[in-house]
Amino acid sequence: MNIILVGPPGAGKGTQSKILEERYGARQIATGDMLRAEVASGSPIGLEAKAVMEAGKLVSDDILVRMLRERLARPDCAGGVILDGFPRTLPQAEALEALFKETGRHLDAVIVLELDGDALVERIAGRFACAECGAGYHRLFRPTRVKGVCDKCGSTKFVHRPDDSPDVVRRRLAAYNEQTSPILPFYEARGLVRKVNGMAPMATVAASIEEALRRSGVQARQIAV
Ligand code: ADP
Ligand code: ADP
Ligand code: ZN
Repeated sequence: MNIILVGPPGAGKGTQSKILEERYGARQIATGDMLRAEVASGSPIGLEAKAVMEAGKLVSDDILVRMLRERLARPDCAGGVILDGFPRTLPQAEALEALFKETGRHLDAVIVLELDGDALVERIAGRFACAECGAGYHRLFRPTRVKGVCDKCGSTKFVHRPDDSPDVVRRRLAAYNEQTSPILPFYEARGLVRKVNGMAPMATVAASIEEALRRSGVQARQIAV
């Protein structure tokens, strides 16, 4: 299965990607996470991307397409991918189509998470992550089981993304509306778009995505009992 998850910042793309990885045996490719790793390592890409990300703008198509091309060639992508945060511009969508064609990969569906602005602000305001393993949480909607301790790795260190501040979020939302939403007609023309209500609780959104994928001819894995 190869799918794209589209949605504004805070829509739940990362959260749903993790659920889908398990259910469909496909690999999440989160370009935001990849860029943050480049920034943390101080690589040339990271040095170029840092200021752009902090300003809530989009990193250049060139860098993103190159990063994605290399990432998709790795063996862990052989069983399919869930693209989380890519493509974010029309040129990226076009480059992806060419890349898939070249490598014989078939795009099954483009899942669009729809939410209103107030919900997004609330999502982003409460978002935090484990500093050690990157597990994602929300102050109200997905707290750790034990206060101050990561469920996954036991770490007691957590981080907020620097670009989750209110003024940068406004600019990221503008970037979504101006540069990312134009990819929707591109995929609508190919009959691939499946719209899902992203405002519901996590498990409900996951069930809606599963239903949408079924309509696109993609079945979840049988869970062994
Ligand atoms: P969110 O989860 O809030 O949607 P991401 O973690 O996906 O945000 O992305 C964080 C930032 O990384 C973006 O604001 C942008 O600066 C950069 N970025 C991520 N993916 C792309 C992309 N495909 N094209 C350009 N910039 C990107
Ligand atoms: P994105 O990757 O699209 O930026 P995330 O998956 O990081 O979004 O979700 C943003 C925040 O909202 C996180 O703190 C996450 O725990 C929380 N969240 C995700 N999905 C839901 C949901 N359906 N209901 C409530 N909170 C959610
Ligand atoms: Zn952790």
